[in-house]
Amino acid sequence: MLVVKIGGAAGNNMDTVCEDIAALIKQGQKVILVHGGSDETNAVSEKLGHPPKFVTSPSGFSSRYTDRETLEIFAMVTSGKINTLLVERLQKLGVNAFGLSGVDGRLLEAKRKEAVRAVENGRVRMLHDDHTGTIQTVNAALLQTLMDAGLTPVVAPLAISPEGVALNVDADRAAAMIAGALKAESLVILTNVPGLMRHFPDESTLMPNIERAKLGEALKFAEGRMKKKVLGASEAIDQGVQRVIFADSRVHFPVSSALSGKGTVIA
Ligand code: ADP
Repeated sequence: MLVVKIGGAAGNNMDTVCEDIAALIKQGQKVILVHGGSDETNAVSEKLGHPPKFVTSPSGFSSRYTDRETLEIFAMVTSGKINTLLVERLQKLGVNAFGLSGVDGRLLEAKRKEAVRAVENGRVRMLHDDHTGTIQTVNAALLQTLMDAGLTPVVAPLAISPEGVALNVDADRAAAMIAGALKAESLVILTNVPGLMRHFPDESTLMPNIERAKLGEALKFAEGRMKKKVLGASEAIDQGVQRVIFADSRVHFPVSSALSGKGTVIA
């Protein structure tokens, strides 16, 4: 079992990723694809006159502030467009892909963040009406049922709260939770850089291997959204995933090359 996460940032190459995944599936590999959609959500939000807002928590994590309107735009972009187009690409390549978000069949149940602590001008403010969540449970049986029926799940990063409210969740951590719940052998997190760099953006400082016990130390090298990937990697490893690989989506055969050890391998 292999879980692949493809980023939403500019430069990520969906075509090569899908071609590689289709080839792996034809060789008998079971794959679940999880995707993001951050940059396109920003662009569409701007176009719709509801510009994105990002907040930084006191511990330094940056996240999207998601009011109801933003949540609806996020759903439109991720579930509506990106997910459908990934399924379309895979179908064109002969893979019977099945798109769903974490809302469908309660695939991903998340605890809603009641209030978000945001640092603004050096002061901590509480923001309410946020529609983001932290995933608590994965409906692994649902994914298993789809795969038993010969379908390849393609998952958009939305979740549902126990009260039935749709939430925006981090796609890296969604992929990590899914990989953990299904006891995947590998989680490949593809992005628009070759892996985790000790001194970003100097690619000569790429870290080829990180021991699981040293993941906490590695967190300090990650800036911005890369922090969520390191956090996701540690959640996946804690739940029994054998290895997590951060790798470049822009190369030929990005998934196969990650599986052969290119990128940052955490084990
Ligand atoms: P995606 O949308 O593909 O998931 P993100 O934008 O969320 O990607 O995260 C990847 C980005 O993290 C890279 O493009 C890079 O700008 C940034 N980054 C921050 N720190 C590092 C680091 N130490 N090593 C590599 N990338 C880093």
